[in-house]
Formats: sequence, C-alpha cells, structure tokens
Amino acid sequence: MPKQFRPLAGKSVLAHSVAVFESHARCAEIVVAVAPGQKAQAMDCLGALNESVVLVEGGDDRSSSVRAAVAASTQSRVLIHDAARPLLTQPVIDAVLEGLEIHDGVAPAVPVADALARVGEDGVEPVDRTDLWRTQTPQGFKRDALMDAISKSGDRSFPDEISMARAAGCGLGLVPGDEANFKLTWPADFDRAEILLGAGSTGVETVTVTGMGYDVHRLEPGEGMALCGVRIAAPLALVGHSDADAGLHAITDALLGAAGLGDIGEHFPPTDDRWAGADSAIFLQHAVQIAAEAGARPVHCDVTLICERPKIGPHKAAMKARVAEILGLSPARVNIKATTTEKLGFTGRGEGLAAEAVVTCRLDGRAP
Ligand code: MG
Repeated sequence: MPKQFRPLAGKSVLAHSVAVFESHARCAEIVVAVAPGQKAQAMDCLGALNESVVLVEGGDDRSSSVRAAVAASTQSRVLIHDAARPLLTQPVIDAVLEGLEIHDGVAPAVPVADALARVGEDGVEPVDRTDLWRTQTPQGFKRDALMDAISKSGDRSFPDEISMARAAGCGLGLVPGDEANFKLTWPADFDRAEILLGAGSTGVETVTVTGMGYDVHRLEPGEGMALCGVRIAAPLALVGHSDADAGLHAITDALLGAAGLGDIGEHFPPTDDRWAGADSAIFLQHAVQIAAEAGARPVHCDVTLICERPKIGPHKAAMKARVAEILGLSPARVNIKATTTEKLGFTGRGEGLAAEAVVTCRLDGRAP
C-alpha cells in the first residue's frame, strides 16, 4: 500500500496531512493529486470530505501531478505539500505564507545538525555543512510565478518545486521548518510518527469528548409517533410535553453532555408552553448550535432504542439519515441500534420506550 494511504494513529497518513490544512484559517482550498487509478482508494482514506477538498488525478511523476493539482486550484498563493509529511504544524504553514510576502517561492528548512562526509575514490572526505539546509514541504509560491516556472519547465522532471522554480529564475527564500515535519520514509518513521501524533505534537487540536444521554417516554395506544426524527405509523404513541421523541432527546442530552452544557431540561423546560407538541429536531438543532459556539463539533453518534414495539428495523436507515442531517454528519457516522428487554421491566411490558445515546465531539482550538 502506498505510504500516504497507510493507517497512522487512527486515520490515514493522507488524512492527517489534509487535516492540518483544513484547520488552518487561511487555507481556502485543498487539492489532493493522486496517482492514476488511486482516486477511490484516496477517497476511502479521506473519509468524510470537507467541501474545500478536491481530488484530481495526477500523472506518473511528481511534476505532472503538481501541474494537474495547480491547474485545479484558483488561489493566488499555492502551497505544495508531500502527503507523506503528516506531522506538519500550523506555525510552518504560517512561516511559508509570511515568506511569500517577500519571495516568489518559499521552502521551510531545518539546519543540518550532523557532520557531513562524502565517500569517493579518495576515501572519506568531510563536507562543510555551513550554509547547508534540509528543505521540507509545504513549498509555497505566488501562483503567477509558479505557473511561469511550470510552463518553462516543459517536460523536465524536478525533485521538488523549489528546484523547478530556481531553474525558472524565481526569487526564492527559506523559512524555519520543523524537525517534527519529517517525511515518512523508513518503517521506523511510522512508529516515531505514531508516538508524536499520540502526544498531540501537530499543533492541531485533536481532543475528543464524549457525552451520554438517556430518555424514557410512556407508550399508549395512539396513531403513531416520531422517533429519531422519523414518523412511524403504529397503533401506539409516545406521550410527553413535546412530540416525545425519546431518541432525539437522548441524542440532544448526549451532545449537551459532550459539550459540557447541562441537559435538555435546562434549555427547554417542560413547563414552557412553547415546546408543547414541538418537533424535537428543534432541540437537537439548538444543541448543535450552542455546542458549536462552545467549540464542540459532533463526529459520531450511536443510539440504542429499547422497546418491544414498534419494530425499529424497517426505520433504521431513515433514522440514520435524519439524525446525520441534523448533526451535520455523514450517515456513516451515525449508528442506530434496537433491542428488547426480553419482556422484562417497563419496556418489556410495553409501558414505555427508552433510548440511550452516545455522542462524540471534536473540540476545536477555541475550546477551553
Ligand atoms: Mg424526553
């Protein structure tokens, strides 16, 4: 498997690299160039794609892939990054952007710490490391200068874009890179990256938080009910102040729990007449909004509905879709389960329906 698709600390190497740019305030557009025939694999690796990410098919070598990616971008400044450097940090991106205030092209670089030697016919010969730097990516360019360098380069292949821009006569500069921004090259590099990512060294806030919710509503003979935001036809109804959708109530409580925002009763008191018969989607939508204001974004939701009746199975797909829609998630990140309690207890006797939910959120950088 190409190294950019290999798993690393819970997601693919490529997804790590994309995430650093996705969370950078000045990054407007991300173009991922993949080798011919690898688009589907890349999509799998990226998971739920942000709207700002575009996939293009590149060529057989680095230069043609870069050409294809740059052609698909529209911004006046372009940063070109090796996906195999997943430990890129925000300050390196900032330094490259700052360097572009002065130069046509900029590469992050770190000094050479080790003594260097050349082995030739005369044996081992020391090499002076003064003025030598190790360049990294992302390499940044003013778009016009890059387009000019690309057109001048013709079919020639270059090891990186700074070399190509140099050949085209661009004004270039180096800015501080980061030792942690190393390129995954050897098998041991994956172990090292795994440890560093686990320690949160990327500068990207990767804290996840979890909340749980539980709710019960009474079941009585009636003409159907709303459950997990879906209308179910049944000779039963859930009884409560709002539409009594125990599924959405449990999810709302779980989300509020993850965001540290109390419970549904504090935000929507059952004594408030405004919520009489209300569509419970309103509660969850409100929870999504205030959680976002607190820096918590849902990334996953798991629900268990506990009842003998109605049958949940036929409605699971619609419930997944509706809950995902309200939470702003891909349906793949929502799971709906159902169980009975073997005729035991209030759920077993059909007196009520219970719902449990777990919501996982990612905390963004603004979160305390
Ligand atoms: Mg309730």
